[in-house]
Amino acid sequence: MKWLDKIISFFFPEHCLLCRRPLKSFESLICESCLEKLPRIKSYCKRCGNLLPEGSPVPEGSICKKCAGKRLYFDSIRPVFKYEPPVSNWILQAKYQGDFVMAKLLGRLVRRMVAPFLAKIEFDFIIPIPAHARRLFFRGYNQALLMAMGFEEKKLFSQALKKHKHTPSQVGLPREQRLKNIKNSFEVPQKYRSFLKNRRLLLFDDVITTGATLNEAAKVLKKAGASKIYALAIAKSTL
Ligand SMILES: [Zn+2]
Ligand SMILES: [Zn+2]
Repeated sequence: MKWLDKIISFFFPEHCLLCRRPLKSFESLICESCLEKLPRIKSYCKRCGNLLPEGSPVPEGSICKKCAGKRLYFDSIRPVFKYEPPVSNWILQAKYQGDFVMAKLLGRLVRRMVAPFLAKIEFDFIIPIPAHARRLFFRGYNQALLMAMGFEEKKLFSQALKKHKHTPSQVGLPREQRLKNIKNSFEVPQKYRSFLKNRRLLLFDDVITTGATLNEAAKVLKKAGASKIYALAIAKSTL
């Protein structure tokens, strides 16, 4: 979508959002030196995405206490930022204020940050967590889809997953209630099933808390024949 890039460069001032310095072409939203100031997640469980105390990386293949015994359908997960300002503000701007430019730029920023993670995996399609038709009707767009477009538009396969059950906002709900709400809320439309057979997928969401939504989506996609599922979340909330 070249026109969207043109609109972005025309309307969006190419200056760092934090220090206002002009951005270089490979930078998105913020400059390289301000990137260091963002609430980046450095230590996390690669199996479930649970945050670990700084400086205590879980060795490859081992699991943290929280996910031992849990059935997880994605093969690994990468949460990028803690859900804290300024990242949380940018996400809210993209989510509730219809700031499409911000959504796409956030996707681009995250893409730059997860280059080492992407170097280790290969994926055929990127699938954003879908929104239910009712939410789309009222909001008009799905922010996760817009962010995924900024991340990697060429591999986008957003029709592969549908949300057919409307679920109330998960914010502030205990884990058990979240699990109950989200259960059986996704489906893979019959006509797209053959495209997913033995495919490696990158599931993409903006904010995760327990990871229940990503896990439920991964379950449905694995059942449809996907061979590998990597999950990526822009931010992880601890609320
Ligand atoms: Zn800056
Ligand atoms: Zn874990």
